[in-house]
Amino acid sequence: MNKKTAISVAVTVVLFAALIIFDALQPRFYTSSFFSMNTYCSAEVESRKPENNLAEIQALVEKLDLEILSRTAENSVVYNLNKNGESLLAPEIYEYFSLLADISKQSGGAFDFTLGAVSDLWDFGAEPSVPDKAALDVALSHSGYEKVALSDNKISLGDKNAVIDFGASGKGVALDSIRSYLDTQKIKRSVVSIGGSVLLYGEGDFTVGIRDPKGGPSSIVSIKTESTCVSTSGNYERYFEADGKRYHHILNPETGFPVENGLVSVTVISESGILSDALSTACFVLGIEDGATLAKHYGAKVIFITDENLIYTDSETKATLSVIDQNYRLAENE
Ligand code: AMP
Ligand code: MG
Repeated sequence: MNKKTAISVAVTVVLFAALIIFDALQPRFYTSSFFSMNTYCSAEVESRKPENNLAEIQALVEKLDLEILSRTAENSVVYNLNKNGESLLAPEIYEYFSLLADISKQSGGAFDFTLGAVSDLWDFGAEPSVPDKAALDVALSHSGYEKVALSDNKISLGDKNAVIDFGASGKGVALDSIRSYLDTQKIKRSVVSIGGSVLLYGEGDFTVGIRDPKGGPSSIVSIKTESTCVSTSGNYERYFEADGKRYHHILNPETGFPVENGLVSVTVISESGILSDALSTACFVLGIEDGATLAKHYGAKVIFITDENLIYTDSETKATLSVIDQNYRLAENE
C-alpha cells in the first residue's frame, strides 16, 4: 500500500467510526407496556438510551407502589399507616398527604382519601358486589378526612379503622416521580400512561385523546397541549352490573354509593400529576359547576362529558379540543 492509499484508508476508517458514534448518539424512539399499580401502564421515550429509560421508568413505578402507595404490600408506607393508625413520613410523602387533605377539604369532602374501607366493601378490583347497607354504614363511620391530623411530618388517622386509599391519586404521584427522573436524563420526548393518567414530557406540542366512555376503540375528543399531565376518571373504568343496574367505582362519600350525576368522564389537565389525578376524581364527584370551581382553585383545566354526549369546558380549553366522534358535541358556554 503506498502512502496515498494508506492515508485514504485511514480517513475512511475514521469517518466510518465517527458515523457510527454519531449514529449511536442520535435519539431513538422506543415503547414498552407493563402492569403495575393495579392498572395497565405504557411508556414511550425518545432519547439516546431509550431501553434503559423504559426499564428505569417501570422499576420506579413498581418501587413506588411496593414501598409507598400499595395498600396490600406489607412493607409499604400506606399498608403500615393503615395498620398502625399513624406514621412518620418522609417530607415528600408528607407533602402528598397534605395536598390530598387540602383537596378533600376544598372539595367539601367530595374527594376523600380515607374511603378505603368503603371501596373494599365494593371490591371493584376483584369480585365486586353491592355491599350490605349496615356494613356500608359502619365503613362510612370510620371514613372522613377531617379525622386525619397532619403536623411535623407525622400523620395520625384519628380512627384506627380508617383506611387510606391512593386509588384516586397514586397514578398521578407516579407521573410526578417519573417526571423528576426524566429531568435527570437527556430525554427529547416521552409519553407515559399509568391507567387513565398520562404524562406528556418534552419539547413541542402533544395530542392526547379522551377515551370513548362507551368502550369504542378510538378517542372521542383530542386535546392539543404542551408538556403537562392529563388524567381521566370515568364511570366505565371499573364497574359491574347487578339486577340490571350498573355500579361504578367513583363513590359519593356521603352515601358510599357510586356517584350518579349524569357524568360519564372527567378529564383534568395540570402540570402536577397528583393534582390532575386527584382532581379528575374529585371533579367527577362534584359535578360540572362545583368541579369547575375546584379545578380553577388549583389552576387546572377540566373537561366534563355527560351521558347526553355533551362536552363541558371553559372557552380557553375549548380552543385546544377537536371533537373526533360526531356523536359528541361541545356545550355552549354560559
Ligand atoms: P380514579 O380512577 O383516579 O378516578 O380513582 C378512582 C378510585 O379512587 C376508586 O377506585 C377508589 O379507589 C377511589 N375513590 C372512589 N371514590 C372516591 C372519592 N370520592 N374520593 C377519593 N377516592 C375515591
Ligand atoms: Mg383520579
